[in-house]
Amino acid sequence: MNVGIATLVLWQTVAWLSLLSWAALLVTITLVRLLLVQEYHRIAPAANQIRRWRLRFILGAGCAGTVWGAAGIFLFPHSSLAHQIFLIFLLGGMAAGAIATLSSDKFAFLAFFLPTLLPITVRLFLYPIHETSVAMGVLLVAFAVVLLITALQFHAAIVESLHLRLANLDLVRHLSIAKDQAERSNVQLAESNRALSAAIQKTTASEERFRSLSAASPIGIFQTDAEGGCIYVNKRWQQIAGLGFAEAKGDGWSRAIHPEDRAGVLAEWTRTASEGGAFSRDFRVLTPQGETRWAHSRSQVVLSEHLAVLGHVGTVEDITERKQAEEVLRESQERYRSIIETAQDAFISIEANGVITDWNRQAELTFGWAHTEIIGQTLVETIIPPYYRQAHERGLQHFLATGESPVLNKRLELTALHHDGREFPVEITLWPGRRGATDTFHAFVRDLSERRAVERMKDEFVSVVSHELRTPLTSIRGALGLLTSGLIGAVPERGQRMLEIALNNTDRLVRLINDILDVERIQSGKVTSQPQLCDAATLLTQAVEEMRTMAEQAEVTLSVTSQAIGLRADPDRIVQTLTNLLSNAIKFSPAGGTVWVTVVRQREEAVFAVKDQGRGIPADKLESIFGRFQQVDASDARKKGGTGLGLAICRSIVQQHEGRIWAESTFGKGSSFFFTLPAWKEAEQAMSVPEGHPLILVCDDDPSVLEVVGAVLEHQEYQVVTVTSGQDAVAQAAAQQPAVILLDLLMPQMNGWETMAVLKNRPETRNIPILIFSILPPQERTPSQPEFVDWVSKSSGDAALFQALKQALAERARTALVLVVEDDLDLAKVLITIFQRHGLETVHARTGHEAIEGCKRWRPDLLVLDLILPDGDGFLVADWLRQYDQLRHVPLVVYSAKDLDAEERERLQLGHTEFFTKGRITPKEFEHRVMSLLARLVPHKGGRLDGHDQMHSGH
Ligand code: ADP
Repeated sequence: MNVGIATLVLWQTVAWLSLLSWAALLVTITLVRLLLVQEYHRIAPAANQIRRWRLRFILGAGCAGTVWGAAGIFLFPHSSLAHQIFLIFLLGGMAAGAIATLSSDKFAFLAFFLPTLLPITVRLFLYPIHETSVAMGVLLVAFAVVLLITALQFHAAIVESLHLRLANLDLVRHLSIAKDQAERSNVQLAESNRALSAAIQKTTASEERFRSLSAASPIGIFQTDAEGGCIYVNKRWQQIAGLGFAEAKGDGWSRAIHPEDRAGVLAEWTRTASEGGAFSRDFRVLTPQGETRWAHSRSQVVLSEHLAVLGHVGTVEDITERKQAEEVLRESQERYRSIIETAQDAFISIEANGVITDWNRQAELTFGWAHTEIIGQTLVETIIPPYYRQAHERGLQHFLATGESPVLNKRLELTALHHDGREFPVEITLWPGRRGATDTFHAFVRDLSERRAVERMKDEFVSVVSHELRTPLTSIRGALGLLTSGLIGAVPERGQRMLEIALNNTDRLVRLINDILDVERIQSGKVTSQPQLCDAATLLTQAVEEMRTMAEQAEVTLSVTSQAIGLRADPDRIVQTLTNLLSNAIKFSPAGGTVWVTVVRQREEAVFAVKDQGRGIPADKLESIFGRFQQVDASDARKKGGTGLGLAICRSIVQQHEGRIWAESTFGKGSSFFFTLPAWKEAEQAMSVPEGHPLILVCDDDPSVLEVVGAVLEHQEYQVVTVTSGQDAVAQAAAQQPAVILLDLLMPQMNGWETMAVLKNRPETRNIPILIFSILPPQERTPSQPEFVDWVSKSSGDAALFQALKQALAERARTALVLVVEDDLDLAKVLITIFQRHGLETVHARTGHEAIEGCKRWRPDLLVLDLILPDGDGFLVADWLRQYDQLRHVPLVVYSAKDLDAEERERLQLGHTEFFTKGRITPKEFEHRVMSLLARLVPHKGGRLDGHDQMHSGH
């Protein structure tokens, strides 16, 4: 604004160019200064920049002052005084105005003030253009001095006011800081107030909780002061101790401790309390009611912040039950230990890795290892013989992997190793256990050395008895049989009765001895069966035949129903089982009763049943009668005969054949005994002609005749093959080698005579006896006719046929020679008598040597061999015979007192070989078997007797 006024005023008086230039310069400088000021305000003046800005202000003020001052020189209006005065006033006014704007900074004020006034003043004095110029110059100086003074005073005032303001600002700042702090403290105070009240609340709650917990606690809780005086007990504590709080207070609590434990407990309590330690102890409590309980107490010292003892807190638990259980456990462990230690058997425990963990006194004695030596060693390295070690390891690993073992919980007989290196037999029972997470095994081991020695002695004794008793008994039985039959002379009636009594009792004696020997053999595991393919029906028939006489005497009817079922069994043993059941059934049946014997197939089994109408067996005895020496009634042995061994033997035989045996009964009405045997299909297919039943070939062109005759003969237990033509007869006779051929004469094509001629012509059929069976009456034989043994008319009836058949069969065997090797002369005599009755030629040899000589000399058709001979045994005889081609196949019947095992039977095999045990088979049965054997084996040998020397001939 000032620039504009100056320009307008001075226009026309100074050169316009200078004026405009000056105005432009000043405006520019002013603008720059304005910008500077703005910039200064925009950026807050940082402490380190104040100096720089101040310099800029001073410089700006200087520049502006200089331009204003330049106006006093370059724009001085020489022509007009008035304009001069205006200029002087303008500059003076500018300088005065600077007091207001610049006096806050002395130097900025001076930088503006001096350049503004100095040039015009100097000009006025140096170039006075008017008489007033100098005066104006003086006035200007005076004005300038006044201005300067005013400016300095104003500056001082401004500085002071600034200081005041700054001080004020400082005060305000401090005040606000103090206020902030006060506010913060207030907030903190409020917070800690809140926390404090929460803490107080919490403490109250936890105190309450403690009280209620303590009241409901199943554990007794107590609190004492620093001296150990009781200050608090909960309800449970009072129950355990039987004391109220009032009684427990102070020292009262110690009264609860059982007098016997009190001194010890108090001493320990005092000690741990004084040491500030923890107390923990079991002791007995005696309640005022006199009840003793076991308690466990624990306590802990309570310390203040400054570690001063405030008192004790503790718990008391009623552990009576636990103590009792521990006591029971301890007692049972002690009992277990004492049982183990006093056991007569060695007791051993091992872990899964085989390490021995227990070893009793008897184990020390049995194995020779002391407890201290063996604990921690393995079983394998100590008592198992080297060759069993691998098997033992394998078994153990198998059990650990599968949990299965065939040896656990069973009695096993094994060999063990003694510390001294010797091996000995042991019986061991092994069972598994567990200790924590590990498997353990325990075993009782019994030394069998002594038992074995006794067994050996017993075996020898039994073997002696079996021979010594069986042989004479067999001869007594045979002799009595012969006498009773009346065939060697008539006996008076009374004598006959006596003979029968003797015979019955001999049978009983024989049975008893057989049973005892059987049981002995079963017990010693010596009963081994000799399985062969056989037919259930045949075995049944055989057993029934054996028991028929007994049944007849007891007036009991035997009813048989059978079915051909193939079996793989030891026929003797199965017949023994059946006869045993039959004899029981007959024994217990009333006279006139019936015993039903059946065998039927049920699925894969043959089921044998023997049922009677006797007194029955009480339900509780149905199982026990299969035990040894078990009888329903102790008087059975006396009244009915028997030893109570029969069923035990039956069961063991059946089990050996993988079958089952059991009894069913309605007490008072009868009993049924059943046993099963696995059926054997192959046996059915291969079932050969059963022994002891001669095969008869019947040849007739009339099928109805064949049917009737076949049925009649089968009823008589012959085996029958029927053919309808002569050609078939020849073919079948050659193939099946029948014992007798029953031949019709009148047949189309090849008649009877022609057929007979062919048969007699062929070597393989030449020796088969032929019986003519024709409607024609018997004719005289003509020399041209081939040999036939007899002629039976079809019209003469069954009896005639049977008689003729019997004779034909006997005829067949008649000329056979039997060599009887038997050292017992009595028995030999009986056997020879029996054979003689059948017209057989018999030679007797007493020793092995004589047997061999006899064989060489006579080439017997059958050898009957006893095994125990004065100069060796039957095995040697068999061995010797086997060396000779002609004698290797001699048919052999071993008739010995010894029950033979499979290996022994194998060693004795020659030609067709059969084994009979004296005592097990009656002389009658023996006779029957030998005769049917001869009928099948021995070809017709007409006139053999002629021209023979006889050594010990029975003739
Ligand atoms: P024992 O030699 O005494 O006959 P067993 O072992 O054969 O011996 O039979 C044992 C007991 O079982 C017999 O003594 C008898 O009490 C009873 N018992 C066996 N079979 C019969 C049966 N069929 N009827 C009644 N009781 C029988």
